[in-house]
Amino acid sequence: MPYTLLVRNCGQLLTLAGGPTHRPLTGPHMQDWPILADAYVACENDRIVAVGPMAELDETQVTTETQVLEAAGRVVMPGLVECHTHLVFGGNRAHEFQRKLQGESYLDILASGGGIQSTVRATRAAPDETLLANALHHLAGFQRYGVTTVEAKSGYGLDAETELRLVRIAREASRRQPVRVVPTCLGAHVPGPEYKGRPAEYLHMLVTEVLPQLSPAEVPFVDIFCEEGAFSVEQSRHYLAQAKELGFKLKIHAEQLHDLGGCRMAAELGAISIDHCDYLNPADAAQVAANGRTVAVLLPLVPLFLRQEVYAPGRQLLEAGVPVAVSTDFNPGSCPSKNLWLALSMACLKMGLTPKEALAAVTLNAAWALDLQAEVGSLEPGKRADLLVLDVADYQEIPYWLGENPVRDVVIGGIQQ
Ligand SMILES: [Zn+2]
Repeated sequence: MPYTLLVRNCGQLLTLAGGPTHRPLTGPHMQDWPILADAYVACENDRIVAVGPMAELDETQVTTETQVLEAAGRVVMPGLVECHTHLVFGGNRAHEFQRKLQGESYLDILASGGGIQSTVRATRAAPDETLLANALHHLAGFQRYGVTTVEAKSGYGLDAETELRLVRIAREASRRQPVRVVPTCLGAHVPGPEYKGRPAEYLHMLVTEVLPQLSPAEVPFVDIFCEEGAFSVEQSRHYLAQAKELGFKLKIHAEQLHDLGGCRMAAELGAISIDHCDYLNPADAAQVAANGRTVAVLLPLVPLFLRQEVYAPGRQLLEAGVPVAVSTDFNPGSCPSKNLWLALSMACLKMGLTPKEALAAVTLNAAWALDLQAEVGSLEPGKRADLLVLDVADYQEIPYWLGENPVRDVVIGGIQQ
């Protein structure tokens, strides 16, 4: 079959290929992946079928049917994988920005009925069409930044009906546009307002009324916020173990504001990812590294936006052998940004990642954090044809042009968007 799409004259082709297939990248593998000079990527329909130097291009497969995308010496790389967002919500929290600037902390605002509770009120009150339209607006924004796969957590309903509604809307949003959406149930974000002071009863409600209504084939992940004011390590362990029993894969928000031990606990349960990790201590990091599979998802725009000084110890985590991914944590409270390129730059500036490590963290390791490593995250034959042509000639420019969007072309499933 002739190629349906050929991306030619890639000045630098960031393949992210050739690493271990049984575990995410870590240690030296985070940056020893190859960059091909003067290269091409060929696709048949939604799959990549060949990658290599221009000199080895099989011209017999290039016909009048082939769409040719001329990269003209630019950088070409896999589509970005955004592995941690809270995509579906009502309203916004712009009014709290001022309070934050005047010195109120995330937990202060939460305690006064603001923060997540105000988004819960707005989300419950919003009709489905509004929530769907908001989600589609944000997905279009992600796509402009070159994000081709987005994880989307529920968690602003906090009652059975609305949590199920948010998951349905995330799935509907996936069907309505090209960016792949991977839904996660984060019903256990904080206890619902009707369960104030009764977190264990709230979790019991989720296990009996929400999780049984979801199919792990359609909603692969269950997540929980393990933090003061949310759920304890013991409550989180009990809940995640029950979710695992029901067939879900596990994620956790942990060590965001305090070192409670949630990351180690979740890694012991075989969590696919542990997210935030700002306060993860070296002993627990060594425990996480020992399981070889759990990805630490670092979210550097969150401490930036919350005006906090502590960032996850990315360099130490890598040196301890923990696989690392980077994401925005897009949400209305602690990171209203969809700019994963800015997160990548901040991971270099504040967490000690090198540009190549940060690029692996928003592509292949982010795919591992969604258990989609066989499908996306690198440019290799057999993988989905999700790729970007950037408006830079050298990968080192990517974190350097701080806050810019380097994307020139986005291809999703073999189709130029
Ligand atoms: Zn989050």
